[in-house]
Amino acid sequence: MEYEKIRKLVVLGHRGVGKTSLILRYTENTFVDNYYPTIEDIHTKTIVYHNNQYKFSIVDTAGQDEFSMLNPQYTIGVDLYVIVFSVASNVSFEMVTSIRDKILDQTGLESLPMVLVGSKSDLDYARQVSKEDAVALAKVFNCNYIECSAKAEVNIGKFFSLLLLPISVFSLQLTYW
Ligand code: GDP
Repeated sequence: MEYEKIRKLVVLGHRGVGKTSLILRYTENTFVDNYYPTIEDIHTKTIVYHNNQYKFSIVDTAGQDEFSMLNPQYTIGVDLYVIVFSVASNVSFEMVTSIRDKILDQTGLESLPMVLVGSKSDLDYARQVSKEDAVALAKVFNCNYIECSAKAEVNIGKFFSLLLLPISVFSLQLTYW
């Protein structure tokens, strides 16, 4: 096996969409129902993929709204942006474009290595964002889209293998789950 490759992921999205829950489900396989707003946290997870060892450094952010400024740390040396909205919150879906625009503005990039995540898919009865609308937005952004639930453990494994695609291969194969 070769030396460990470090990959920096930044998880962004409106407050309360489940960013921390998604990360903790993946890194520690835990879930808590209570809501403790994150200030900022970095989680790590080492995985082996295609005989390469990757150390994911996952930055959990405080959550953004239309007025918040992006911490420069969220845009420096980032390999992949994970932008999360809740399928049960239209406001959080609208925030996705605003967050992406801020990153583009701050980095001067024209396109972003990103994955779009529709969280809380277990709340289907309260759904406000259709899968079709989310896939359409992902197409505009030329990125992958996945729906998952940290609570019901739906698509968590798929979600993180999806992160590996752009990170390791660097050629994005578009997938919509
Ligand atoms: P963050 O502010 O985006 O980091 O959101 P949190 O991870 O702290 O979650 C906010 C709230 O949503 C908490 O009360 C969680 O228990 C809840 N939550 C997180 N993920 C899910 C999920 O997949 N399904 C449901 N139903 N609730 C979730």
